Amino acid sequence: MKKIDLHTHTSCSDGTFTPEELIKYAKIKNLSAIAITDHDTIEGLQEGEATARNLGVEFINGVEFSIIINSKDFHILGLMFDRHCEKFKNFLEKMQDERKQRNIKIIELLRKDNVILEYDELLSTTKNGIITRSHFSKLLIKKGYVKNVDEAFSKYLSYKGTAYVPRNNFKPNDVMEAIHEAGGLAILAHPNRYDLNEEELENLIIDLKKLQIDGIEAIYSSHTPKMEMFLRGLAKKHNLKISGGSDFHGANKPSIDLGSGFGNLQISKQILDDLR
Ligand code: AMP
Ligand code: MN
Ligand code: MN
Ligand code: MN
Repeated sequence: MKKIDLHTHTSCSDGTFTPEELIKYAKIKNLSAIAITDHDTIEGLQEGEATARNLGVEFINGVEFSIIINSKDFHILGLMFDRHCEKFKNFLEKMQDERKQRNIKIIELLRKDNVILEYDELLSTTKNGIITRSHFSKLLIKKGYVKNVDEAFSKYLSYKGTAYVPRNNFKPNDVMEAIHEAGGLAILAHPNRYDLNEEELENLIIDLKKLQIDGIEAIYSSHTPKMEMFLRGLAKKHNLKISGGSDFHGANKPSIDLGSGFGNLQISKQILDDLR
């Protein structure tokens, strides 16, 4: 069976492999197709595509966005869009600006707790200028303010923390529209990670369907076979497509491997053919 992976991160967001390294690794892992889906950025796609072309791996444009519904955070993957679409690029620019404003607010809140991080310090820890809370957590550890990532999030960065700033400038509709304008598919990422029971999950799908979602990531590293079956059923019932990915982050999530997740993930090339 030909295998693929449609959910991966590079050093352009919070992964540790450069796009080139990731595609080379995909080749080693014998994947026939791969999408790069960095958080809020398409910076890695050009390098990824060029490497994939050289190695004979099929390359899929991807990105991962956050949307807020009823003050809860959900992740939407954009797949197979035209990355040169001007409207899409403008949307990404606005989103990155919103992220910057938020990061400045996080720095201010940390300062109230006598935790001093400089914007430029954070910037120097990124490859392409995109600072996520993951970058905050690493710098907090490096400067000795916390012992580990968990403490960084529970004390400061998570919604329970003292320096939490929600990202809510973008309406779910804006995200869906931007993906669709560029000819892409909008997929609900990792449905098992929102703390919802089956009924709540179905209600979410119904809400997202009204927002023109195209599919759900039924196949995912941490899905049990039962969960996958349930999600495949939901997709069928609500006439949605199915995607699959590992959410590979390299050394930042060392237990998740490319293509195979925690060990027994399998995403058939057929999934990609059906998405088309
Ligand atoms: P942001 O896009 O700035 O909200 O940051 C998202 C990053 O923070 C992603 O890399 C997440 O994996 C990471 N993250 C979010 N919540 C937690 C948490 N509770 N523990 C560890 N990492 C987290
Ligand atoms: Mn991530
Ligand atoms: Mn996600
Ligand atoms: Mn992801």
